[in-house]
Amino acid sequence: MAPEAYIAVLVATPLGGLGLFLLLDEFRLRRIRAAGRSDSLFRCKDCGLVYTDDPGMERSRCPQCGKTNDVITF
Ligand SMILES: [Zn+2]
Repeated sequence: MAPEAYIAVLVATPLGGLGLFLLLDEFRLRRIRAAGRSDSLFRCKDCGLVYTDDPGMERSRCPQCGKTNDVITF
């Protein structure tokens, strides 16, 4: 193998790996953002705190005062 080709492989391999890592990281972030949007939203009837909980939760306990609240639907 010519020295230039050897150097090119030495440079391109880590760059390719880094590019792949950044691409996979971007997909991971998009999945987290998409999941975050589907979180259930609650407003406490006692203290008025607005908070989120896991998607699909019908009722959730207020983290501030402990009252159980129903999910807000739009
Ligand atoms: Zn509360």
